[in-house]
Amino acid sequence: MATWLKRGASAEAKRDADRKVRDIVEAALADIEARGDEAVREMSVKFDGWDREDYRLTQAEIDACVEGLTAQERKDIEFAQAQVHNFAQIQRDSMKEVEVETLPGVTLGHKHIPVNAAGCYVPGGKYPLLASAHMSVITAKVAGVPRVITCAPPFEGKPADKIVAAQAMAGADEIYALGGIQAIGAMALGTQSIGAVDMLVGPGNAFVAEAKRQLFGRVGIDLFAGPTETMVIADETVDGELCATDLLGQAEHGPESPAILITNSEKLARDTMREVERLLEILPTADYARPAWENFGEVVVCDSYEEMRNVADDYANEHVQVMTEDPDYFLKNMTNYGALFLGPRTNVSYGDKVIGTNHTLPTKKSARYTGGLWVGKFLKTCTYQRVDTDEATTLVGEYCSRLCAMEGFAGHGEQANIRVRRYGGRNVPY
Ligand code: NAD
Repeated sequence: MATWLKRGASAEAKRDADRKVRDIVEAALADIEARGDEAVREMSVKFDGWDREDYRLTQAEIDACVEGLTAQERKDIEFAQAQVHNFAQIQRDSMKEVEVETLPGVTLGHKHIPVNAAGCYVPGGKYPLLASAHMSVITAKVAGVPRVITCAPPFEGKPADKIVAAQAMAGADEIYALGGIQAIGAMALGTQSIGAVDMLVGPGNAFVAEAKRQLFGRVGIDLFAGPTETMVIADETVDGELCATDLLGQAEHGPESPAILITNSEKLARDTMREVERLLEILPTADYARPAWENFGEVVVCDSYEEMRNVADDYANEHVQVMTEDPDYFLKNMTNYGALFLGPRTNVSYGDKVIGTNHTLPTKKSARYTGGLWVGKFLKTCTYQRVDTDEATTLVGEYCSRLCAMEGFAGHGEQANIRVRRYGGRNVPY
């Protein structure tokens, strides 16, 4: 039976924290809706110490950020963006349109229509997370979204220059230096200076994720992509240092980021816990990683691979790094995860930064019902139908009429009956 050598915060403590965030977000969004730019500016000053008349960056400001990159930085961003573009394009090409004759004279089809305007959030409170610009903006552009706007918080008192460069290189149409709830609210609801979008995408902290969640319905959202989570599934084919490195590599995102080890070896579990303590002494970002590990780190020892898989599926974690004798067992059998990283030669950081899969991934168990951001999220799969012959409309109409009668829908029934009369020459009563 699975044994927890270390457990994180209780479910009640997590619910309490969620409730506080929910209340803050609700009040802030109501204020943005009522007062528009004025509320946005006040929040920007309060949370980010950042004020200016117009949060949209000028072309000269954007160009300065791109020109400020070193040649190597530019090449590295170009390489990462090419990988993201390439995989997104392959995924787009795999989405076929459908048009098929399902009955003689009856044609059904679907097509994929991009949303008209997407708002891409690029997080930047603790680190300037420029990779999120590739993940959202490029994917939206590959999907064919005509208007792609993007917000990132100012970093250390000014627009985050490397994020701005990445947003521009990714092809953003409008770039704003705005963070948090005020960015999400402004993009979704529109203000005097920012035109509303149809859909919000991108990751962020608990406030950002909750703001997107509350706005869902009024706008589309990609998924619930809050504070990063990571899970390592490992056996004794790897050592504690590698497992600890992979746990802390994601725990450094922030003090709310869970890092979970699932193993069938108590020795590996204890080695990993020891290595985590050793690495926390030397990791420059330990101020974030240590509270994450202390409050949300968990270590589970299981009896079998099957049990490891079941426990992992229950967590439905965002990132799952698999380092076992047969990583493909987990690829074949796991059902709940944001992304899998198979074998010791890959790792979550490759996926986060450069390998080409999308790093905007589901958190808080939302991997039970969605995968991560991808080109399909920006596309509406809309159906259409055509009935070309009198025989076809008469055949379908008679079935439809009887089915409507069972439901008591007289108006629906008459839509069918009038066609049966006109095109089939049958005397169907009104
Ligand atoms: P962020 O840009 O998400 O949030 C910064 C903003 O939060 C600030 O601009 C500020 O306006 C707002 N804020 C801060 N404290 C506040 C408060 N008390 N009340 C209201 N608003 C407040 O940057 P971040 O904080 O560094 O977080 C980035 C997050 O993105 C991390 O948690 C990281 O794990 C997560 N992330 C998730 C994924 C994913 O796919 N799930 C991917 C990458 C990053």
